[in-house]
Amino acid sequence: MAKRIDGKAFAQGVRERVGEAVSTLQRDHGLTPGLAVVLVGEDPASQVYVRNKGKQTVEAGMKSFEHKLPDTTSETELLALVEQLNADPDVHGILVQLPLPDQIDSHAVINAINPDKDVDGFHLINVGRLSTGASGLVPCTPLGCLMLLKDELGDLSGKNAVVVGRSNIVGKPMAALLLAESCTVTIAHSRTQDLADVCREADILVAAVGRPQMIPGDWVKPGATVIDVGINRVEGDEGKTRLVGDVDYASAEAVAGAITPVPGGVGPMTIACLLRNTVQAACAANGIAFDLD
Ligand code: NDP
Repeated sequence: MAKRIDGKAFAQGVRERVGEAVSTLQRDHGLTPGLAVVLVGEDPASQVYVRNKGKQTVEAGMKSFEHKLPDTTSETELLALVEQLNADPDVHGILVQLPLPDQIDSHAVINAINPDKDVDGFHLINVGRLSTGASGLVPCTPLGCLMLLKDELGDLSGKNAVVVGRSNIVGKPMAALLLAESCTVTIAHSRTQDLADVCREADILVAAVGRPQMIPGDWVKPGATVIDVGINRVEGDEGKTRLVGDVDYASAEAVAGAITPVPGGVGPMTIACLLRNTVQAACAANGIAFDLD
């Protein structure tokens, strides 16, 4: 049976290290990192994410600035708020919760954020930094996956890594991070042929598809490390819904060497890495060496 990778416990450890770093910054530099989160509209899932981000930011000892705007907000109004946050020295990280309403071009908004405050790592400058190996802010979910993988496997150099999914938010940055760790990386997607065979070559298999339990155990190489990013809500017992990943956990755990569960695997790492990125941005803005590992 595979080892179950406990992302919840690991994320708590990251948050504790963030909290300690914040105390040190306050004591030695009089600096309190600040994270601004902008929510446009009433999307229920986004409201939950934003609430959790604010709560965990405060728990880590940082300043949390929440901006809730109506779903009728225009792009010009949102860009004006981003400019205001760019100029605010108490704000070191800016996150605009996606998705945005149709009247707003999310690319325009993301690329209006000061790249050095772009704690989601979605700005084109940060995408370029990641793909060229320059230091910058890295998207939180793939960063969390990489931290779990390094904790599990140590040196990743030379491993065959297959990332299923090529989104800008998860798949592509995940592949870039694994390449930077000297893995041999394959990116699979909806047009990939013989996906099962591609997956069976993976020492490291990252699933970021958004299709419930799409990857069965017999697509997993024996002993592989499986990171399941998928979060899918499906019908459970008695009409209740439950969360499952993109991997069929029950059959995959019988073959894999280690595997993240859903929930309790990758999910908790995302906000932990957001807090980490905010401390990194605050340190960089003040010329302070950043060491959170
Ligand atoms: P997207 O929908 O943006 O991307 C999905 C990717 O999966 C696409 O590249 C698509 O290929 C590929 N795909 C779809 N169907 C297949 C198929 N049958 N075979 C192979 N590839 C396929 O999703 P995201 O990357 O944003 O998210 C992926 C999952 O991760 C979701 O379940 C999401 O909820 C979850 N997630 C979890 C986070 C967390 O834990 N905190 C954060 C972000 C996402 P193509 O490009 O060809 O269409």
